[in-house]
Amino acid sequence: MNDEGVEALHKILRRARIEAGLTQAALAAQVGCTQSAISMMEAGRQEVLSKESLVKLAKIVGVELPESAVGGGGTSARGGDGMAVCPNFNCPSNMPYMVGDEVYFMPQGTSGSGRHCALCGELLTRKCPRCGAEILTAGGCCSSCGGAIVELPSGYTAGERAWVDSRITAIERIRFRHG
Ligand SMILES: [Zn+2]
Ligand SMILES: [Zn+2]
Repeated sequence: MNDEGVEALHKILRRARIEAGLTQAALAAQVGCTQSAISMMEAGRQEVLSKESLVKLAKIVGVELPESAVGGGGTSARGGDGMAVCPNFNCPSNMPYMVGDEVYFMPQGTSGSGRHCALCGELLTRKCPRCGAEILTAGGCCSSCGGAIVELPSGYTAGERAWVDSRITAIERIRFRHG
């Protein structure tokens, strides 16, 4: 399985982890991501980890990353700055959706250079509130730790399907009107 003598990075990292005597879970705890993120990375899906996490991981297992793995660009269509996300769950830029009884939010992400949300005025965030990794990809969950980027505040119970449905309707109406 060793194609041209060049071993894929994820295989090197996997072997280094094993040689370091670390389980995926133990490594995940040190990096500050989920075990499934490690598992996916080792299966060749490096993009599940943020650059910061990958650098951290490599340092822990003693692997020097090639420039191509940490060099700038490539992962973001927004100039390498990641996405700016409005942390306000009640903002029209965050479309709620349900997975089972859990409410999640799909942040629209703003490409603007402003520091505040154009829709609700909230200060935008570019980091995951849980692990601090840069938000690089569109989606409701952090690509580094798997945690939700925007969450319902406590007091709102999960499973509020009617609320979610009404929010979706209202947000779609707003988005239609403003193009
Ligand atoms: Zn907002
Ligand atoms: Zn995170």
